[in-house]
Amino acid sequence: MRILIVEDEHKIANSIKLGLQQESHAVDVAYDGTDGFDLASTEDYDIILLDLLLPGMDGITICKKLRSNNIHTPILMLTARGQLTDKVTGLNSGADDYLTKPFAFEELLARIRALSRRPKHAIGTTLAVGDLSLDTSSFEVRRGGILIQLSSREFSLLEYLMRHPNKILTKDQIISHVWNYDADILPNTVEVYIGYLRNKLGKPTLINTVRGFGYKLAKKN
Ligand code: CA
Repeated sequence: MRILIVEDEHKIANSIKLGLQQESHAVDVAYDGTDGFDLASTEDYDIILLDLLLPGMDGITICKKLRSNNIHTPILMLTARGQLTDKVTGLNSGADDYLTKPFAFEELLARIRALSRRPKHAIGTTLAVGDLSLDTSSFEVRRGGILIQLSSREFSLLEYLMRHPNKILTKDQIISHVWNYDADILPNTVEVYIGYLRNKLGKPTLINTVRGFGYKLAKKN
């Protein structure tokens, strides 16, 4: 993959660069925000690692400008520990994920892998299937333009289904992606939540049961 690092702390930038090169990635580094924005707008990267506080132009501004220029390269925002409001701002500005410094290099690699696996069309902030839309930054779900209120678990479930439209997802896949590390989740729980979603999303239903296999989100059966 071709990766851009925008980070003004030379030591951090260079050690990430070295580590990623050892993993066979092609890496460019920008040490200030203006250079970072220029490179991100003119070159084609698979992922951008973007520091939050930068000379020239800060990470949030870069992120917003790239997105408004229709550049949807996945962005992993890097920032200092405990800046929770930065996390929210970062994701609202169009970043795809967020990592707190200092981090283990393995963690960075895992996040990069996860971001690169996402289908390109799903990386913007709005997912759409038929007349259903889900905004991953404002957490708004609409059907036919009408706002639908979901719990956070229902939202995660719907987001997972919408990231894999027209694909059969088993209950086990759903549990491992939506419930992560919670213990004692039974396949029955998935059925219950699918039921909640179907009720809230209304008819015609978009979530189809594929008997013996699992569920599929699709415009038609
Ligand atoms: Ca910095």
